[in-house]
Amino acid sequence: MSRTPTRDAPAVPGVPWIATWSRERKSTALLGGRRGKGLFYVNEGPADRDQFGALWARQSQRIGQGTAEFAGIHPRRQRRAMEELLCQVCGLPADVSDLGVLWMEPIHPGDPRSEVTTHPPVCVPCALQARARCPRIRRTGAHVVRVADPRPNGVFGVFYYPRLAGGLIAEEPMDKRHEDGEVRWVLAHQMIMRLSGVTPVDLDDEYDRYLATSPAERTASLRGTTPRRRHHRETAIPSAFTTS
Ligand SMILES: [Zn+2]
Repeated sequence: MSRTPTRDAPAVPGVPWIATWSRERKSTALLGGRRGKGLFYVNEGPADRDQFGALWARQSQRIGQGTAEFAGIHPRRQRRAMEELLCQVCGLPADVSDLGVLWMEPIHPGDPRSEVTTHPPVCVPCALQARARCPRIRRTGAHVVRVADPRPNGVFGVFYYPRLAGGLIAEEPMDKRHEDGEVRWVLAHQMIMRLSGVTPVDLDDEYDRYLATSPAERTASLRGTTPRRRHHRETAIPSAFTTS
């Protein structure tokens, strides 16, 4: 896998950027654990941990190779989408307005919108595509919100514990907050964000705004300074959305 932060390959139209492909191999071959310290890689590099010290699962990057796995989430791309506020579908900067970053999540009937999520944000064109084509959103609708203060809150991943005789035993995947000491024994697969300063919005109104603003205004950082990327590629509208 790539050990230094580089620009990941663009999304393939019709497949969410954070979805995995069948030729993207996972590896725990060099994973170890030490009592009192937690998990580590024998050949660990800076990119293997997030800014809070959680160790991340390794998976090669081969977007577009083999078959798309819509139910799979690529750890590195999901993490990048959260850390850099990229659209989970196209991988380009998520849409930002005065009210914050655009988020869209399927409604779970009977449940209120959760304050924490593993779903990264979206851009307006991808949100429109999702509303039109995602079977789950068409069935139950979606929460469409602006988030003024999205912050990493923890990770979702496999919990390991060390055997007395050496080696590791894998448990079921679970959520752990970054400040929980047990996070040292979780191999992170997805970043969890806490969404604060949430304003419900109407997606059609957001589209009107999208059409009326420049790419730089739509992708400027939350701090209102520099655009995150040079420009928003208008052609990268996916033709479908995840079916999960
Ligand atoms: Zn997008």
